[in-house]
Amino acid sequence: MARRLASHAPAAKDLRLDGRVITLSNPDKVLYPGGFTKAQVIDYYLRVAKFILPHLKDRPVTLKRYPNGVTGEFFYEKRAPSFTPEWVKTFPVPRRDGGAPISYILINDRPTLAWTANLANLEIHPFLHRVPKIHAPTAIVFDLDPGVGADVLRCAEVALLLKDLFARLDLQSFVKVSGSKGLQLYVPLNSSATYEVTEAFAHTVAQFLEEEHPKLAVSEMAKQKRASRVFIDWSQNSEHKTTVSVYSLRAKHERPYVSMPVTWDELTAALAKKDPQRLFFEPEAALKRLMKKGDLFAPVLTLKQQLPSSLGGSNRGTSRATTQTAPALQEYRNKRDFLKTPEPQPIVPKERAEGGRRPFVVQKHAASRLHYDFRLEMQGVLKSWAVPKGIPLDLSEKRLAVATEDHPVDYLKFEGTIPKDQYGGGTVMVWDIGTYQVLDGNYYKGKLTISLEGKKLKGEWTLVKAPSQGEKNWLIIKTGAAMPPARKSQDDSSALTNRSMEQIAKENKATWQSIARR
Ligand code: MN
Repeated sequence: MARRLASHAPAAKDLRLDGRVITLSNPDKVLYPGGFTKAQVIDYYLRVAKFILPHLKDRPVTLKRYPNGVTGEFFYEKRAPSFTPEWVKTFPVPRRDGGAPISYILINDRPTLAWTANLANLEIHPFLHRVPKIHAPTAIVFDLDPGVGADVLRCAEVALLLKDLFARLDLQSFVKVSGSKGLQLYVPLNSSATYEVTEAFAHTVAQFLEEEHPKLAVSEMAKQKRASRVFIDWSQNSEHKTTVSVYSLRAKHERPYVSMPVTWDELTAALAKKDPQRLFFEPEAALKRLMKKGDLFAPVLTLKQQLPSSLGGSNRGTSRATTQTAPALQEYRNKRDFLKTPEPQPIVPKERAEGGRRPFVVQKHAASRLHYDFRLEMQGVLKSWAVPKGIPLDLSEKRLAVATEDHPVDYLKFEGTIPKDQYGGGTVMVWDIGTYQVLDGNYYKGKLTISLEGKKLKGEWTLVKAPSQGEKNWLIIKTGAAMPPARKSQDDSSALTNRSMEQIAKENKATWQSIARR
């Protein structure tokens, strides 16, 4: 292999490539104790260039450098180092905290690929998006990570279940070995779907699989929960996360394994033969396989697919969706007796609006203690908080918002009286109703900034989890600009029917059934 590299490099330490000169440092250094030098790493990346470059094109990468090989220390490098040659393409990505943008490296050509390999950047970790569209991942990824007592074959079982689940949703999926311990499954999108949508979808899928196969899969990060199970890491779909590229080397073993695509048949065969070794590929084997089979991951770059509007409808079948409660609404159902309360039944609608503006409601609720319930429609249910003091209007004003169980979408227009002996007994007024849009963050990250366009509330608010104050506690903060205080008459009138709390209590007639059908 050293000879192949030499053919690129007439001068001992200068690699000339496509008009660029890369000065190699320590090419003979052994980076994998099983025997693989830096020169061999560079050689591998140049030979795999025609396959890997299309997958890296225009995707910012995080460097993961192993200057002393895989047994030494490594460090992550997001910002292009100061000595980056001017011919290396970079792209400035704004920071979450609003600080100076980070200039990320784009590995768009062979010289850049060789240059990063020369930095002992053994693993290549691109983002799921391409610049400049940094909010639109081109695929959803599920990182299947075996817990203690599980292995890559256990991951294969989970991958095949996921593949079948996606097939029922008319989505094709593709799988690769991570080159570490597990597998990664990709669902190509190549659409304008944003991380907000894909991350939430991935979370729902992981939770669904855990619910159906509790002995096999887990959707939570906690290590102790993973024992002999497979962690479906859906959080890789965060816009701030990178995942190892297809055809990247890994630095997790003493041998240089490649993150390599496999066919579903190969995965099934490895499982049938109980042979995990079939799922590990060293560079020579990987290159040979590529020459023979081509790029099995090519469709991940081109296949356009749409996410279903919800898992409920398509996945579970219509009859089940209408007769059974979706898991998200189980708690809502358990707390109520629908023969007694006029509140809506827990049903997830089969179709719902996706993306853009979605409905929200604030309900004034004279239960044992007066409070305001704040609800945002998300994933076919209403994510809900009880805000004891009501929505803050002064700039930077913070109020406690206690997360409560998801409510059905029909609850948006629920106004009426819940019987005294029932959960939440008391009068409910639709205090404000309208649409919202997520400006930043998302619910599952525990922080989201939204803009409300209600009849009373207009402008920006931020919801943020405050775990130090208890698992369910959030803060709702007025951000953006202050709002003028509400007039007293406005405060006690329904945004839906103009009625006061007293009138609603007296009329004792729930409104949602006649007007809720959207
Ligand atoms: Mn309430």
